[in-house]
Amino acid sequence: MSLFRPSDHPHRRYNPLTGDWITVSPHRTKRPWKGQIERSLRESRPAYDPGCYLCPGNTRADGAVNPPYASTFVFTNDFAALLPDTPHVLLDQAPLLRAETERGTCRVICFSPRHDLTLAEMPVPEVRSVIDLWADQVEELGEVYRWVQVFENRGEIMGSSNPHPHGQVWAGDALPNEPAKEDEHQRAYFEQYGRPLLIAYAELEMEKQVRVIARNEHWLVVVPYWALWPFETLILPRRHVLRLPELVSAERDALARGLCSLATPRALLSPVAQIRHRQEVHGWLRDAG
Ligand SMILES: [Zn+2]
Repeated sequence: MSLFRPSDHPHRRYNPLTGDWITVSPHRTKRPWKGQIERSLRESRPAYDPGCYLCPGNTRADGAVNPPYASTFVFTNDFAALLPDTPHVLLDQAPLLRAETERGTCRVICFSPRHDLTLAEMPVPEVRSVIDLWADQVEELGEVYRWVQVFENRGEIMGSSNPHPHGQVWAGDALPNEPAKEDEHQRAYFEQYGRPLLIAYAELEMEKQVRVIARNEHWLVVVPYWALWPFETLILPRRHVLRLPELVSAERDALARGLCSLATPRALLSPVAQIRHRQEVHGWLRDAG
């Protein structure tokens, strides 16, 4: 039996946030690739698109007209997946056929009036405005709903239907599967060890300096030990923060700077820089101990 080498031998890693086990097959990254290769295509888009339903002043599918907004703009999704006036009904309670209604709302957040930008290309003060809006939305919707989720799906492959820089807010009464698991595991960790799981994890990664991609006074960016994807990153505050509205001004500024640098389109980097980035991101597999 040879000695275990994390860069060669398949193993499982535990995600303490969800309780899931992740299969890591590092040797597979050495295999020759004959499959599809995505081109680093940088499409050029106009700053304003008269056919875009998110650009300022344009008419949306349901006939509503966007205001001539100059910074961010938020509105209730015209095709929302959750609706606020849904009555609470337990539809089926048989052990194998259970269902219940779900009340909620879905909003769209335009990050910028510019059709041709991404979050990474926006000036840092404008990204700060987006973070302020995220925090305001979490505060406002959090007074009505149990769960508020801010997110962005970007690109055609993720099912994003419009290239205009935008994200979404979903709010509902039920806790979705992943947050429910993370809540349960963080509670259990806190009860056993007397401190927040993610604070302990951030300290461990700061000490090891193996998977840290970036850090500043307020934030730490790591490829988590239990990462499922090669480019997966976890952004952690350096102090115990429960929700976005609790972030103070300096923390929001630092988060804006961090998001801009983390989300910089790799397509714009030179090939040498891209290779270096890949090595930095994948380095954790070689060095993990
Ligand atoms: Zn647009």
